[in-house]
Amino acid sequence: MTDWHALARTVEPRSDAFIDGKAVPAADGRRIPSINPATGAVLASVAACGEEDVDRAVAAARRAFPGWAATSPGERKTVLLRLAELIRENADELALLDSLDAGKLISDTSTIDVPGSAAILQWYAETIDKAYGEIAPTGRGDLALVSREPLGVVAAVVPWNYPLEMAIWKVAPALAAGNSVVLKPAEESPLSVLRLAELAIEAGLPEGVLNVVPGLGPEAGRALGLHPDVDAVTFTGSTPVGKMFLQYAGQSNMKQVWLECGGKSANVVFADAVDLDAVAAGVCFGIFTNAGQVCSANSRLLVQRPVLDQLLSLVSEKARQIRQGDPLSETTTMGPLVSDAQAARVLSYVEIGHAEGRATLPGGPREEAPTKAYVNPSIFEVGPESRLWREEVFGPVLAVQAFDSEDEAVAMANDSIYGLAASVWSDSLSRAHRVAGRLRAGTVSVNTVDALDVTTPFGGFGQSGFGRDLSLHALDKFTALKTTWVNYR
Ligand code: NAD
Repeated sequence: MTDWHALARTVEPRSDAFIDGKAVPAADGRRIPSINPATGAVLASVAACGEEDVDRAVAAARRAFPGWAATSPGERKTVLLRLAELIRENADELALLDSLDAGKLISDTSTIDVPGSAAILQWYAETIDKAYGEIAPTGRGDLALVSREPLGVVAAVVPWNYPLEMAIWKVAPALAAGNSVVLKPAEESPLSVLRLAELAIEAGLPEGVLNVVPGLGPEAGRALGLHPDVDAVTFTGSTPVGKMFLQYAGQSNMKQVWLECGGKSANVVFADAVDLDAVAAGVCFGIFTNAGQVCSANSRLLVQRPVLDQLLSLVSEKARQIRQGDPLSETTTMGPLVSDAQAARVLSYVEIGHAEGRATLPGGPREEAPTKAYVNPSIFEVGPESRLWREEVFGPVLAVQAFDSEDEAVAMANDSIYGLAASVWSDSLSRAHRVAGRLRAGTVSVNTVDALDVTTPFGGFGQSGFGRDLSLHALDKFTALKTTWVNYR
């Protein structure tokens, strides 16, 4: 077994911004401490970029764009494949950076986040030299060629729950398509992508093609959203901030905005789901993975009344077996939340659960923990108007309701401003298909939770946003279709 604590002592976090191929401090010298939520230790004092830094990064990206866009798809593929290899060669370091910075389990970052990031990058690298243009069937005596052109400078603004992987979801297709990128990580978790930017140079990416501007959302993020020379923003984060990006675009240059926002995903369990133990395992995975800090977390459980009590007792039994503690221990199954502040926010919803609902598992702060970022898992039966039922918590808190009929289940599941994901459990094939078809969600998983692959589009309906990450469809966000008419005569 890897001694992650020993390895962690060898990690040297990068703390400057990365602009035009170089590590640079913020123009005004400001810095933000990056804190390990598991211990409270300051890992690094990271450059806090403001408008001037964003200007420099966008200018570098603009200068680099024509050269990168003019490379052949095969050349871009070679560079990005090399970067995927470098991610693999530096996997332990990257896994540790995300684990230390965001409190994520090393058993997840080393087996899911980092290998997944390399695989996604590889997939887009290998895709891009197989993407053909079109000839339109006009039926006229001339030729209409339809080609995909890169947009120019893409700003990618990402959250802290999967710091490296969320960045790669954006950066990989954007770079493969020939754009240059200015990436703004969340202030809570900038360290892995600062290292990624260095590795990109080592892989042969030209200077200025990938820039990283760590900093506060209302400063660096806002400056990117309002920048007149950014062609598109691809954002993953909360719905309120997603709405701000739409406003920034309207106030500035009408840049394209692609939003992957929050969710309140329904997990619908019918009484004809025979293996309730497997359902209970899925329910726990759906809400307690990454301590509930997952946009598509199945945070609403809808159970057909005859199996409600049995399922809740199985789910709470499994939830009690969660081993909370040190994220660097491979036997831990739930670490801290990303910060004390996020834990306080989550605990305010636990209070709502106690005030408005009935606790199956009471949750609350983990008293003996080294920091205030640890929160116990909790489960509450609540009414349809409870804020716990309607609002995204982004923590290990499950809200439950019973239903009687299929129609009622569908109506309850769809009664949400969000529409990111949903699950259906049933051993009736026809019911599973019927209900899956009626659920308003970007991804529906049948007899499983949160199914995901690089080959399938990911994104939401409603206020979960629009545009899709992953799959070939992600390339739609980073390219514009161009028609060239050629007159034969
Ligand atoms: P957040 O919206 O607070 O922050 C996301 C990013 O936006 C960060 O980089 C942040 O610095 C920046 N930002 C914050 N305020 C800003 C402002 N005023 N102007 C410009 N930029 C600003 O989200 P978070 O707390 O980092 O992450 C949790 C949220 O992300 C949850 O709502 C979750 O559902 C969502 N999320 C969605 C997906 C998805 O694919 N749909 C995936 C992961 C997380």
